Amino acid sequence: MKNKSDKPQGLLLVVSGPSGAGKGTICSLLRKELPELSYSVSVTTREPREGEVDGRDYFFKTVAQVKDMIFRGELLEYAQVYGNYYGTPKPYVMNLLNEGKDVLLEIDIQGALQIKKVFPDGVFIFVVPPSLEELRARIYKRGTDAKEVIEKRLKAATSELSYASEYDYIIVNDVAEKATKRVLTLLEAERYRAGRT
Ligand code: 5GP
Repeated sequence: MKNKSDKPQGLLLVVSGPSGAGKGTICSLLRKELPELSYSVSVTTREPREGEVDGRDYFFKTVAQVKDMIFRGELLEYAQVYGNYYGTPKPYVMNLLNEGKDVLLEIDIQGALQIKKVFPDGVFIFVVPPSLEELRARIYKRGTDAKEVIEKRLKAATSELSYASEYDYIIVNDVAEKATKRVLTLLEAERYRAGRT
């Protein structure tokens, strides 16, 4: 895809998948491997978890603030996930892409499907766990959420797996480092395809 100045636009890399599939870990490893990859920090109305930093992990907002951003068209996509709003700030992502920089979004499936309509040339990656048993074990091990939240997420995860076919690539996250290598390989191929290397 080209922008106004005929400079190739950056690649938009969209990573999603069910809660506990390990997309967060894969995205962190990717960012370490590719420091030039820009990461879009989302807005959310959920409470910060222990250790999370405003502006680094999320921009923590009130419902009124997010609704205002939606009204003003400042979000590229947004969705309600487990009762909270999440959204991708539009100007930040658009500016980077127009400057030819690659941008990574780690978002839920509803958001990814919205992005696909606007950016059909994006690279859509679906991270899946090796099995549902493994997924359950991982969500419990993380231990950041209450039991009822975990059960809610597991139920959602099971139905979310059916969206895999909407994505360009499915990455089975057996071992995070190996899964990240697979993403790096496909990203290299996509950069070639887009004439970016
Ligand atoms: P968590 O609360 O565990 O950080 O994230 C919950 C879910 O929201 C995850 O699936 C995460 O990928 C998704 N999410 C994070 N940011 C965004 C966003 O900007 N838009 C959408 N649609 N989902 C997001």
